[in-house]
Amino acid sequence: MEKYAPGDVEQRPCFDLVLRDARLLNGQSVDIAIAGDTIVAIGSISGVGTRELVLGGRVVLPGFVEAHTHLDKAMTVAQSRNNSGTLLEAMAVMGQVQRDFTVASVRERARAMALRFVAAGTTTLRTHVDVKPALNLVAVEALLELREELRPLLDMQLVVLTTPLSGHAGAANLALVREALSMGVDAVGGCPIIDGDFETQIDTVFELAELFGVPVDLHIDESDNPADFSLPYLAERTKALGYQGRVVAGHCCSLSAVDEDSAKRAIDAVLDAGISVVTLPSANMYLQGRADCGLVRRGLTRVRALLDAGVPVCCGTDNVQDPFNPFGRGDQLLVANLFAHAAHLGSPREQVAAIDAITTVPAMSLGVQRYGLSAGAVADLVVLDSTEPATIIADVPPRRYVIKRGAVVAETRTETIHPLVTLNQGV
Ligand SMILES: [Zn+2]
Repeated sequence: MEKYAPGDVEQRPCFDLVLRDARLLNGQSVDIAIAGDTIVAIGSISGVGTRELVLGGRVVLPGFVEAHTHLDKAMTVAQSRNNSGTLLEAMAVMGQVQRDFTVASVRERARAMALRFVAAGTTTLRTHVDVKPALNLVAVEALLELREELRPLLDMQLVVLTTPLSGHAGAANLALVREALSMGVDAVGGCPIIDGDFETQIDTVFELAELFGVPVDLHIDESDNPADFSLPYLAERTKALGYQGRVVAGHCCSLSAVDEDSAKRAIDAVLDAGISVVTLPSANMYLQGRADCGLVRRGLTRVRALLDAGVPVCCGTDNVQDPFNPFGRGDQLLVANLFAHAAHLGSPREQVAAIDAITTVPAMSLGVQRYGLSAGAVADLVVLDSTEPATIIADVPPRRYVIKRGAVVAETRTETIHPLVTLNQGV
């Protein structure tokens, strides 16, 4: 900092970045000192930073962690209309559109949506990526390139996704999944109930995970039908194969459709198997319940029962502006607001759980290292344009700064718009 004279040791910069007067979720006011990519101190910081941001009591959270999205499909809604709004038509329409995908076109759309996530506070993002004979490895190549390109802004994890993995059609898909994993995809996924033989698909996915040394992340039971219930088998195999802590189950919608005893047994098994559940409120509120009249189901899994049991529950975005979901904008805080509405999470403690579901819980579930607001953690942070921790979910405030590995990578400047009427005049 040139304004200090040489020899003035007391005032020489000690840190690369200092956040002054930040507010933690518990209301505590602190300074946060960052050196390189690491938080080195939190509290009352006397040393100065090469750069200092005076936050005026704005709330700081650890960077958001997106547990489940589909960047390869994002922003295709204009060319892929889903007239019925069902999951099955979405899959059929996407299958047609994917024939025209190129590495460049996927990379361009995915980049645009990934940058929206970054601007909204996401610092780590897991995306599923399709492989199938009509698409080949086009989307995998695009997202592997993007993972490298965006590394200064965002840590990306890729999960290879296909179905079926059994029968004649499964053989071609299986070869592509193996190739994708050889190319450096981070995890293996699938949709067991779409396969028709969910036990074979789950067994095959675990064999691939073992072979390539990667975690498992499956689309599980995205259905309102209680007969579509592969979650207990997933829990059984996870425990039997010693995969506790390395399996993520997305959706789990039909857990809400089965009877109470079956649900309780499944939730106990999921907890025992160390499986994390990802609920996708935006996509599932849109896709599920399509056959219901009158009382239309919300489509979510049993969020409250899972939380009460102690199962890690993440809140993910899923599809954004594609035939599966024409809505969304890559804003995890907005999805957390929707989650709190849909899952009845309104008390102060429950609203903290909704914030945890886009921060600490997915970080643990996805194996993000050195995560959080503590000394020694990587400086992945989001500063909200709000001084009120208690109303974050209600307000969905703008993101004032997004910080990735100690560098400010996004900044929002907003102006207060005053009412155009002048109060108390002429009364
Ligand atoms: Zn999905």
